[in-house]
Amino acid sequence: MQRRPFLIAAASGATGMIAAVLGWRLFSGADAFPVTRTKEEWRAQLTPDEFAVLREAATEPAFSSPLNDLEDPGTYSCVGCGNPVYSSEDKFDSETGWPSFTRPIKTEAITTRPDPRLLGLATEVRCSRCGSHLGHVFDDGPPPTGMRHCINGIALRFETA
Ligand SMILES: [Zn+2]
Repeated sequence: MQRRPFLIAAASGATGMIAAVLGWRLFSGADAFPVTRTKEEWRAQLTPDEFAVLREAATEPAFSSPLNDLEDPGTYSCVGCGNPVYSSEDKFDSETGWPSFTRPIKTEAITTRPDPRLLGLATEVRCSRCGSHLGHVFDDGPPPTGMRHCINGIALRFETA
């Protein structure tokens, strides 16, 4: 599965500067969410790897998360604020190396937008409660929705049902 690495590669190089500027705007406080913390508060709460993904929209290495292969019934919540965002009922093996879901646990659990870091070429998924970056959503998923929410496992905390 080369799609995601390609998109990341496309955002570097010549377009990297533009993406960096847009990325700065992304986390400069322009968006309002119910849970807000300062950058210092986020750093204190999260591990460095969690901070890089949730607050700087980094992508964890493929197949790095133990949640990728997890098939147990339960709920996946945002590491940033505890907001339940995905259910095991909607999880499937996309063979991409990232936990994948056909839909959020509730429509309002997440928000999406064209990813400014990728020049709008991919749709970013963020937690609707704290605005943390979770991953991306693509329209090549299986039934019933045809959508593939490609989520960083490090951004999720699993709780057994
Ligand atoms: Zn959150």
